[in-house]
Amino acid sequence: MSELFVRTLREDPADAELPSHRWLVRAGYIRRAAPGIYTWLPLGLRVLRNVERIVREEMEAIGAQEVSFPALLPREPYELTGRWTEYGDALFRVKDRKGGDYLLGPTHEELFTLLVKDLYGSYKDLPLALYQIQNKYRDEARPRAGLLRGREFVMKDSYSFDIDDAGLQKSYDAHRDAYIKIFTRLGLEYVIVQATSGAMGGSASEEFLAVAENGEDTYVRSPGGYTANVEAVARPRAAEQPYDDVPAAHVEDTPDSATIETLVSQANELQPREDRPWQASDTLKNVLFMINHPDGRREALAIGLPGDREVDLKRLEAQVGESAEIVPFSDEDFAAHPKLVKGYVGPQVLGFGELADDDQPAPGSIRYLVDPEVVTGTRWVTGANEPGKHVFDLVCGRDFTADGTIDVVEIRAGDPAPDGSGPLALARGMEMGHIFQLGRKYAEALGLKVLDENGKLVTVTMGSYGVGVSRAVAAVAETTCDDKGLVWPRELAPFAVQVVATGKSEEVAAKAAEIAEALSVTGVEVLLDDRKASPGVKFADAEILGMPTIVVVGKGLADGVVEVRDRATGQRDDVAVAEVTDHLLGLLGD
Ligand code: ATP
Ligand code: MG
Repeated sequence: MSELFVRTLREDPADAELPSHRWLVRAGYIRRAAPGIYTWLPLGLRVLRNVERIVREEMEAIGAQEVSFPALLPREPYELTGRWTEYGDALFRVKDRKGGDYLLGPTHEELFTLLVKDLYGSYKDLPLALYQIQNKYRDEARPRAGLLRGREFVMKDSYSFDIDDAGLQKSYDAHRDAYIKIFTRLGLEYVIVQATSGAMGGSASEEFLAVAENGEDTYVRSPGGYTANVEAVARPRAAEQPYDDVPAAHVEDTPDSATIETLVSQANELQPREDRPWQASDTLKNVLFMINHPDGRREALAIGLPGDREVDLKRLEAQVGESAEIVPFSDEDFAAHPKLVKGYVGPQVLGFGELADDDQPAPGSIRYLVDPEVVTGTRWVTGANEPGKHVFDLVCGRDFTADGTIDVVEIRAGDPAPDGSGPLALARGMEMGHIFQLGRKYAEALGLKVLDENGKLVTVTMGSYGVGVSRAVAAVAETTCDDKGLVWPRELAPFAVQVVATGKSEEVAAKAAEIAEALSVTGVEVLLDDRKASPGVKFADAEILGMPTIVVVGKGLADGVVEVRDRATGQRDDVAVAEVTDHLLGLLGD
């Protein structure tokens, strides 16, 4: 400790939102270099290396081979797959001195695909799995909580290459099993959930989420075992209903009906329904968004949903594409669409309707997508496109149509699971890993083909698999730390044991050094606190630093004992000096 490059801090960093961030900085594991960009100090780097070691071992165990790509990459491959544009503002684009375009890799599908195309040409070369552990760059809109969401971060990314779907399934399953081992070894409580594939494209994908109240992801689970990121929950379409008995639509004055609540109470007063009172779910709310696509297109979108529901922006982003910027309609947007009466928008003025001959929607028309609950025969109270007026008994399929369906409402606890396995419960998590069956999207875009058994060229099918390595350091810290500091599980701790010499006596210092040395020679990594500081300072530091086992050498020496403390449980045991090495080796043995 007297030589280690570390300074523990008594104060929380001003920008620390989460305990893991606070403790990693205060314990001298990381330092901020710029927003979302961190420097690893010796202790932090040792934890990072431990995570990497676990990930490497499990990747090697499924036969994946390590390579290492540059982070600075040429534009062309990303142009060919469309991601140079699609990635939007999240991509760090740079120019070289000749004006050539480069980027800092946010993920490497393109480069891996091209590498394999370069060197392989036959089905006999497959299957193949390659991986790297490397820094990734994403100009995140909201860098957060230190390592949890960085703009530079460490990812393990691997890619599988197979000749057919069955092969891809096998590669995917092997990765899935490896991830189960990785996250179990990291000591994280995690769930595997269905996911959307975001900017990656492709079909089947699952996420590994660490269960954490502070997580940015929300996931659902049902008693029957359905689990999904809320972004991926696809509610089934409601059944169509007969509407022969529904009266013709009629427009009514509904003054002061600015909210769904006031609208419902006015409806019950002025236009009581024959069978039961109107409720919020009988109203059709039309919400307008402006979507700014990464390629510069601006697109208006109207979403029709039952009035008791809200649009979940993250679910909408997942559907529209994460790089698109989605903003509510502004007053200028309303002004630019004079048919829309703010607060009284009804489906009659929405939608492309019949497309003109050139397949282009009429100028000023707005794409109209509805919730899966809004199906033919459903009967609604909704805006009449006139101030202070609503239309009643407007029937979907009879009085209006939509351009399609979009499932983006906020998922609520108790909603039925889409597979019929019971009511959903919601919880929060942190995305630690993501596995995708990419299929042939990248191989097709970049021309990765091999000869099959019959000498015919076939397109290779791929999988892509990521682990947030630096995020894992923060996630483990977040789920294990307490109010005194970090608490590392053995496999990740920078040192297995911290030996603390207390008091000024030469004898104590010598004995502490001797114990540390005896452990060291057996291969145990030991941090010896040999500083000339007060016991109080040393104990507090040992707690902040979070080595799993702390050996206190001090007053007890007079009775021939040292104290062995367990950082996680707080348990303290006196152990005879002569037995301390064996005792600790016993503890660490497992
Ligand atoms: P998120 O939804 O959290 O932004 P993502 O879906 O964009 O993540 P992937 O492209 O699936 O991320 O990347 C693979 C893994 O890399 C993620 O599962 C996550 O653990 C990690 N990761 C992604 N973005 C970051 C980041 N900004 N900082 C740290 N780790 C990250
Ligand atoms: Mg992901």
